Amino acid sequence: MSRNLAKDIAEGGRGRFRQRAKSSKDWKGAGEALFIATCYAEGIEGVGQDTEEAAIWYRRASIAGSSEAHVHLGAAYGAGNGVIQSWKTAVEWFGKSAAQENASAQYVLATCYSSGKGVTKDESKALALYRLAAAHHDSGNPEAYASVCCAQNALGDCYNHSTHGVTRNNIHAMEVYLEAAESNSGPALMNCFEHYLNGTCGFQRDFILAIKYLRDAAVQEHGNALHLIQNIVCESRVCMACGKPKATRKCARCCKYRYCNASCQMVAWKHPIASHKLRCQGAHSPRGNQDASPFTSRACSSGANLESTFMAE
Ligand SMILES: [Zn+2]
Ligand SMILES: [Zn+2]
Repeated sequence: MSRNLAKDIAEGGRGRFRQRAKSSKDWKGAGEALFIATCYAEGIEGVGQDTEEAAIWYRRASIAGSSEAHVHLGAAYGAGNGVIQSWKTAVEWFGKSAAQENASAQYVLATCYSSGKGVTKDESKALALYRLAAAHHDSGNPEAYASVCCAQNALGDCYNHSTHGVTRNNIHAMEVYLEAAESNSGPALMNCFEHYLNGTCGFQRDFILAIKYLRDAAVQEHGNALHLIQNIVCESRVCMACGKPKATRKCARCCKYRYCNASCQMVAWKHPIASHKLRCQGAHSPRGNQDASPFTSRACSSGANLESTFMAE
């Protein structure tokens, strides 16, 4: 990426930038072409958003050898952004990039083979590509991060539902889901939530852990996680240890978490992974007392409510 070019774009505005870009002489190498493409695609650095120009520059970067540009150009063809929509062409670009060991391309090409988009459906090829993408887990490449997590979660689904020719293996599914969830993959966090909630797929039922994963998914703004957590925890006023509704006892320190009784509260307080002891924030208490016992029988003055503060932790 060229700092000078970025400066030119920011200072010179679109007209001058277009002139320079059109000359096709001043940009140097795939990295710079990719940067220009990104400017057009996202409408940044003083350039107006223009999907057609973005596609032109993704193509230039692709020809100059950028495997990342291949993926973007493929995605542009898939969505019909600035080019005539064609899954067949999209798959060709994804394939070029996947052959260069690009994890994002391997994952997205796997989804094409899995669904038969732009290519003849082939689950065994899809599985092989999911595995290749997931194997980038330790590569430390931040650009591949999201795709690697999605590939891991897809592999977990294969083991869980016995698809793509994989023999059902709950333990293996659980391992892959948990690994992907560690990297904050939204779909994996939701899978961990559902399996801890229901005690399925090799997970031992644990409401406290289920809520932990749901909250993590909500923090990632994944799907309807936030809506779900509000629904399950706030509206139903469930016990934060066992999940039974209409819990009446509140943690006396934070006045937020509800429990059926003292023993449920103790389970949550001492949970080995998601202990409420570590999360309880007495400063949010109406009395503001960090040192207050959470187990006092005195009722909270109920000033704090879970709805407004739950996500702030
Ligand atoms: Zn309970
Ligand atoms: Zn508390």
